[in-house]
Amino acid sequence: MKIGVLGAGQLGQMLALAGRRLGFEFRFFSPDPDAPAGRVAELIVADYDNEAALAHFADGLDVATYEFESIPSAAVRLVDARVPVYPPVAALETAQDRAVEKACFERLGIPTAPFVAVDSIGQLRAALERTGLPAVLKARRFGYDGKGQAAIRSPDDMASAWVALKGVPAIVESFVIYSRELSIIAVRSRDGSTGFYPLVENYHSEGILRFSVAPAPAVTASLQNLAGEYARRLLADLDYVGVMAIEFFENDGKLTANEMAPRVHNTGHWSIEGADTSQFENHLRAIAGMPVGSSDMGGAVGMVNVIGRDPDVQRLRQLDNVHVHMYGKAPAPRRKLGHITVTADDMEGVRGRVAEVRRLLAGV
Ligand code: AMP
Repeated sequence: MKIGVLGAGQLGQMLALAGRRLGFEFRFFSPDPDAPAGRVAELIVADYDNEAALAHFADGLDVATYEFESIPSAAVRLVDARVPVYPPVAALETAQDRAVEKACFERLGIPTAPFVAVDSIGQLRAALERTGLPAVLKARRFGYDGKGQAAIRSPDDMASAWVALKGVPAIVESFVIYSRELSIIAVRSRDGSTGFYPLVENYHSEGILRFSVAPAPAVTASLQNLAGEYARRLLADLDYVGVMAIEFFENDGKLTANEMAPRVHNTGHWSIEGADTSQFENHLRAIAGMPVGSSDMGGAVGMVNVIGRDPDVQRLRQLDNVHVHMYGKAPAPRRKLGHITVTADDMEGVRGRVAEVRRLLAGV
């Protein structure tokens, strides 16, 4: 089976590495000739509006998918006219626009922070009456890793927040008070089988995921079931095929959905070493129509992102139960260059190893 992937970053690279074991072949599409997945599989280099290149990409594929949210949906539709694309393009379009995404959460009874779509500073002023303060202004489209966001703590912040977002269409939402951030990775195959990984606890700073631990500590069966139920509603409503991630804020056993990603997700990278079947393998099984593999895990796992500068890989490799994944990208501030997975028998062991890896990455 030959699988096409729009986008060719580290998520694509990890999809190809997982898929080769299953006997799949890959073809990637990206405007970037140095894209990470190009080092492990065929890569077509062209812009997403190049219709001839997209047709050439689709030629001879059995199925296609995407690994990057900001791909113009017109490109995905063009490929979809020639070869089935999963997840469905409607899921991508929902996730690409925060207003549509949050309206979808509301329609499905999935709690989310109260929000208002705003196109002008006048609308923002009126919207803040509804959301209250503090609030967060977020670009409707193309925001990731904390980009395209500005906090509004007092009315004085309103003008600077609007300028910071350069006046693009946005939403403003109430600031959520939470004790921690959790996410769930869910998967649904073309054959209808589904899987739900244990909830993951995530630590962000400056809008970027720094590290995750799984299974999230102190998760009751009812909290896990609640997250699974919200995921189930989205999978069913979007007629979904593939892996999906949903990020939540948790406060006192209540979940507030922040956003969803229609793809394999950074908070699921731990599953390569930590779960019976990785999120990458399960995404491929799902789009290929195979039954999804077990999402069970034994022990505990941590995942630390390598951000901004290259680590001392030699020293990391000397540590026990530490797995280094590098993406082959040039260092740049805030850029994700790789991730490190640590495994242990229990969460205490994971926390110790995560702290050790983080110290090493920080160079102390
Ligand atoms: P996002 O790009 O929506 O994932 O937001 C990035 C980070 O900003 C989140 O992981 C939170 O730490 C924080 N954040 C986003 N929205 C809110 C909110 N409504 N209330 C509190 N914190 C938020």
